[in-house]
Amino acid sequence: MPSDTKLHPAPAAADAAWQADVRAGVRHVRDLASLPLSSAERAAAQAAAANHKVRVPKAYLDLIDWNDPADPIRAQVIPSPDELMEQDGELDDPIADHEFSPVPRLTHRHADRVLLFPTYQCAVYCRFCFRKESLTAIGRGYTREALEPALAYISDHPEIREVILTGGDPLSLPDKALAEIFARIEAIPHVRLLRIHTRVPVALPSRITPGLVAALQGRLMVTIVTHFNHAREITPATETACRTMRHAGFVLLNQSVLLKGVNDTIEVLEELCRELMYRLGVKPYYLHHGDLARGMAHRRTMIAQGQALAAALRARLSGICNPVYVLDLPEGGGKVPIGPCYVEGRDGESWRLRGLDGEVRGYTEVVGE
Ligand SMILES: *Cc1c(COP(=O)(O)O)cnc(C)c1O
Ligand code: SF4
Repeated sequence: MPSDTKLHPAPAAADAAWQADVRAGVRHVRDLASLPLSSAERAAAQAAAANHKVRVPKAYLDLIDWNDPADPIRAQVIPSPDELMEQDGELDDPIADHEFSPVPRLTHRHADRVLLFPTYQCAVYCRFCFRKESLTAIGRGYTREALEPALAYISDHPEIREVILTGGDPLSLPDKALAEIFARIEAIPHVRLLRIHTRVPVALPSRITPGLVAALQGRLMVTIVTHFNHAREITPATETACRTMRHAGFVLLNQSVLLKGVNDTIEVLEELCRELMYRLGVKPYYLHHGDLARGMAHRRTMIAQGQALAAALRARLSGICNPVYVLDLPEGGGKVPIGPCYVEGRDGESWRLRGLDGEVRGYTEVVGE
């Protein structure tokens, strides 16, 4: 036995804990029958599940206040009748993942980094997911063989420095699969950083075990990008999970999606960003404007509202607590910051800039010859 068994629970016990959490949660649409839903909601859930799977671990389910029909946790995971109302202009592949996919399970849009999809399954299915079409249509898990073409592609492209595991949720995979993927990517000398985009620390924090972080140790810098959308998701369990990952030496970042009825007020966003940084040690990275995923019009906000929220965050929070408000453009235009803009005007070297207090001030450039 390793000498540190006193510090960590035995791996088997740690794995039993998260497995129990999965088993006791909602694993299939029929499990919704045990929840206090109206008959209209139950019928809608049945219909919506045809478009996007239903899955919620017990730990996340337990955060729902069932007395509040507009509960922000519930809104993220329980299907709503509104999902069935698709609008013109919504898209199957809102950010053109498929168009920029030279080999299966890989998207290469920006020269220095690629998205790698080791699995199209998740520990929790979020109603607002912008990849739900892929998840439903493909539905495949991880196999070593499935990743071979993508790994060969990365080896052949020395400009790739960052590999982003996404999906699906990479941390829904077993430790052994993660260790295997890590070793393969680590063996490609030009890759410097491995990034993992995941909702597991939020929805299934018990899955962040000593065995999991051990699978991701080696030469590569490891960054975990979590996906918290509301301060109510920050609990003693998520705190423990993030501490484990920080102690393992991972850089922790968070991306949130701006969602109507979940986090579209300054109070909610401000508390979320503060608690992420101050309690979890997770740096708010992006605040995403809602993508054009199908059936999500009821959760989308207007861009002007998002800009006002981002401006208020900028004025109230420290730089390290502030995310960048971005829109992931259709057709693969990439993620662009969409404000607010502090430049009010310019005349040659004279600029007019709006301060955090709202006052517009002049600034004249002075540079050497
Ligand atoms: C989001 C995304 C990335 C990562 O972008 P960052 O701005 O570095 O976080 C890389 N490739 C694709 C195709 C993406 O959609
Ligand atoms: S965990 Fe990520 S990929 Fe999976 S459903 Fe949620 S947003 Fe989509």
